[in-house]
Amino acid sequence: MSTATTHAVDCTECAAPVTLARTPLLGEVIRCGDCGVELEVTALHPLAVELAPQVQEDWGE
Ligand SMILES: [Zn+2]
Repeated sequence: MSTATTHAVDCTECAAPVTLARTPLLGEVIRCGDCGVELEVTALHPLAVELAPQVQEDWGE
């Protein structure tokens, strides 16, 4: 048995529980394993997430 703390939050898109193996960072983007949506961590105590904005990676040129 692991002594590591697990963190879980409900996906805002599909309401599936998203389990994290470690403590997330504020502003970190995690992915729902159920629907694949990206969620941004907006609070840690308690853990809360919001739908992450879809950012276009166009800052290279
Ligand atoms: Zn989801």
